Amino acid sequence: MTDPAPLAELAERYGTPLYVYELSELRAAHAALRRALPEEATLYYSLKANPHPELVRELTAAGCAAEVCSESELDAARAAGLPAAAVLCTGPGKTTAELRHALQHGVRRFSAESPVDLARLGAAARAAGTRAQALLRLNPETYPAGAGLAMGGAPTQFGSDVSWVRRSPEAFRAEGVDLVGYHVYTGSNVHEPDQLAGWFAAAADAVTAAQEALRIDLRTVDLGGGFGHPYLAPGHRPDFGALRPVLTHLFKDRLAPLAERPLELAFESGRYLAGAAGRFVVRVQDVKVSKGRRIVIADGGINALGGMAGLRRIPPMTAAAVTLAAGSAEAAGAAGEEAAGEAVLTGPLCTTLDVLNARLPLPDVRPGDLLTIPNCGAYGMTASLLAFLGRRPPAEVFLDAGRVRAATALRLSHHDIHPRRQP
Ligand SMILES: *Cc1c(COP(=O)(O)O)cnc(C)c1O
Repeated sequence: MTDPAPLAELAERYGTPLYVYELSELRAAHAALRRALPEEATLYYSLKANPHPELVRELTAAGCAAEVCSESELDAARAAGLPAAAVLCTGPGKTTAELRHALQHGVRRFSAESPVDLARLGAAARAAGTRAQALLRLNPETYPAGAGLAMGGAPTQFGSDVSWVRRSPEAFRAEGVDLVGYHVYTGSNVHEPDQLAGWFAAAADAVTAAQEALRIDLRTVDLGGGFGHPYLAPGHRPDFGALRPVLTHLFKDRLAPLAERPLELAFESGRYLAGAAGRFVVRVQDVKVSKGRRIVIADGGINALGGMAGLRRIPPMTAAAVTLAAGSAEAAGAAGEEAAGEAVLTGPLCTTLDVLNARLPLPDVRPGDLLTIPNCGAYGMTASLLAFLGRRPPAEVFLDAGRVRAATALRLSHHDIHPRRQP
């Protein structure tokens, strides 16, 4: 990972708050994940983790396809030079305008979430004078209990229940669409290979049951992902290498026999691929004591870093910031921590939600000091409340083996729009 001294230098040059991404870290994560997957599998990078074209370009150069959920994610994949054939459009509630945009740009492969989604896709494809291919997204009947953000098995807006597919197979057809496979994405951020293997087995059950009912000309099974990674906390990417033989067997013994032609197996990952590449750097603006607690106010908060945690649907953030004393190494040494104890690290927003960590061991920091937060390459800036209070979006600097390759900032501005139809 990036040596801390240049981080302070970059903070001087580009200002704070600042994201610093190390592209070699993306390549390392990609290589590690490939070692966990059967050799021939397709690996989609899920752009929602971080759609910056610099990251997308790096991952697609390494061999990833792209899983996109919006027009701007598709545009980012295109800006990174990815051919339309390597794009999969997913997500609930796709609009006709989004489908049209994707079809216009040559995308033909979609995850279809329901009969309505399938029909809308078919209509858009026919209007565009083409046919679309769809993977039917399934919500498994059962899923293993345990960690991770469950997205299947329970009532959900994602996919179609397998029981529904079995009950009404005729509903899952649409003119203009070839149903060519299945898509299951059951959970996110699982850290144990064994547990993940359980999720994939449940996904294979769902695919088997759906295929019994639908008997489509099966070409692709996308088993999703859920590959965990530390988030805003220290630590290294889990080693999922033990999954490779398990997945190879699952594929050969259970999935490939469902198809009459060679079957493509696909996986998806956002956080595992991009998580370690990013660091967030903020400057301390103020330090004070309130009712006995030390409050450290930084110049970047949930407007720039993982603000979705503020919605309380996922655990509160506990960003592990460490001080970055200018010109020296990271200074969260044992002595400093004991001397100063825990602090509340907040951002600059006018809301009590803007807390990066309510109990952060931190040495005696002063206004002007720099803090850095690790493992925020995924769900960092793009999962944040950028428009709230309208602060300048952070700079993003991209390093390759320590050398600056690009520096950008997102622009938030208003522009005039016009009614779609005159009244
Ligand atoms: C969010 C999402 C992903 C990526 O999840 P990670 O935890 O970032 O790997 C993959 N597939 C689908 C359908 C998603 O919604």
